[in-house]
Amino acid sequence: SLSGRLAGVLTDLRGKGKLSDADIDRTCREIRLALLEADVSLTVVRGFIARIKERAKGAEVSGALNPAQQVVKIVNEELVGILGGETRRIQFAKTPPTVIMLAGLQGAGKTTLAGKLAAWLKKQGHTPILVACDLQRPGAVSQLQIVGERAGVPVFAPNPGTSIGGTGELGVSGSAGAGSLTEPIEVARSGVAEARSKQHDVVIVDTAGRLGIDEELMAQAKGIRDAVEPDEVLFVLDAMIGQDAVATAEAFAQGVDFTGVVLTKLDGDARGGAALSVREITGRPIMFASTGEKLEDFDVFHPDRMSSRILGMGDVLSLIEQAETHWDVQQAEAAANKITQGELTLEDFLEQMLMIRKMGPIGNLLGMLPGAAGMKDALSQVDDKQLDKVQAIIRGMTPAERENPKIINGSRRARIANGSGVTVSDVNQLVDRFFDARKMMSQMAGRMGMPGARKNNR
Ligand code: GDP
Ligand code: MG
Repeated sequence: SLSGRLAGVLTDLRGKGKLSDADIDRTCREIRLALLEADVSLTVVRGFIARIKERAKGAEVSGALNPAQQVVKIVNEELVGILGGETRRIQFAKTPPTVIMLAGLQGAGKTTLAGKLAAWLKKQGHTPILVACDLQRPGAVSQLQIVGERAGVPVFAPNPGTSIGGTGELGVSGSAGAGSLTEPIEVARSGVAEARSKQHDVVIVDTAGRLGIDEELMAQAKGIRDAVEPDEVLFVLDAMIGQDAVATAEAFAQGVDFTGVVLTKLDGDARGGAALSVREITGRPIMFASTGEKLEDFDVFHPDRMSSRILGMGDVLSLIEQAETHWDVQQAEAAANKITQGELTLEDFLEQMLMIRKMGPIGNLLGMLPGAAGMKDALSQVDDKQLDKVQAIIRGMTPAERENPKIINGSRRARIANGSGVTVSDVNQLVDRFFDARKMMSQMAGRMGMPGARKNNR
């Protein structure tokens, strides 16, 4: 399994270090296999891995994670981004009813989904109606009727008892054989009219599928689409079909076009790579996920869950998260200790600043870091651009200078300014600000009664 294979790489690369190209290549090779094993299409994998490498090579070295973990983290972030970058809700029509059409191969789970979606919408206060446009498969209409009953929503359908050779109760011509394309289109049209007259605010149109893609199926789906002008066309895709997902999605994108994707049968052992391929290739968002045969086995799509499924390494991902959280706390504690001792170095100062920046609102840190109010003051007049400058200046110092800022005399200041592309007065300002902040923090820590705090430490 991938987790196993990757665990190997992760162990090999344990310990801190820079992300070398070889490390990145090696980890990417494993990720590539994972993606292929998860049935992500080769084209998509190639593009994806290229982007990951790019990002990994520019990545900052993290103290919390080893190089392989860092690459995994980047991959996960990218996956979540792609899978959920444009996650969106159903777009409801300004003037009801909202028409939602379902399309997909036979057996994909359209009819089952129709019930789930209806139940879900009903729970949110909508009044959906289902429309049975699959007149192809024997029993399809009664299947939808059962589904509708379970969901507690009405179903608009030609009368199954009179549909062959007679006239259905809805006035749909039942005499047409399987070859007729107009029949399901008529049902769809009448269904929407029915919804309008009975004031249903959502219409879900269930359609027929074929076992494979064929022109007749596409023509029918397109005909229904043109007749009812749906607000959403949901392409229902069986996650278990693996590599075939790409060709199927492409055919439906060209044939009917769709506005969103629903992945079904995620309760099976499919790795879910189809999700990534379809998202990448069609550019359409994955909106819902179906995870079983029961009405409640349904949810909006969760990109993070799908990502760890594709990578097959939920455990590794949560370990990475823990490692990072733990690292931040450790850093904060160590810094707090130094603060009370008045021993904060410029290196710590920089680290703290980067941490604060990473964490967003400075307030988040205050609870973690005793005496951080001083840091907050020092940072309050600093915007992102200035932070970049501060970072550049401190990076331009030698380790000894960062450790013991008192040694930074005039000639050192000139050298640092030169090397960091700033003026000497920028360096002066930073050094002054640092000493002020250090003093203030130490004093505050003293006032807060932290043991071992010294008052003046310049
Ligand atoms: P349709 O031909 O697209 O309308 O597909 P159906 O809704 O009739 O579903 C085909 C089969 O797949 C049925 O036996 C369903 O019970 C089953 N099915 C649909 N969705 C799921 C799902 O998410 N998980 C599982 N395990 N089975 C499903
Ligand atoms: Mg069906």
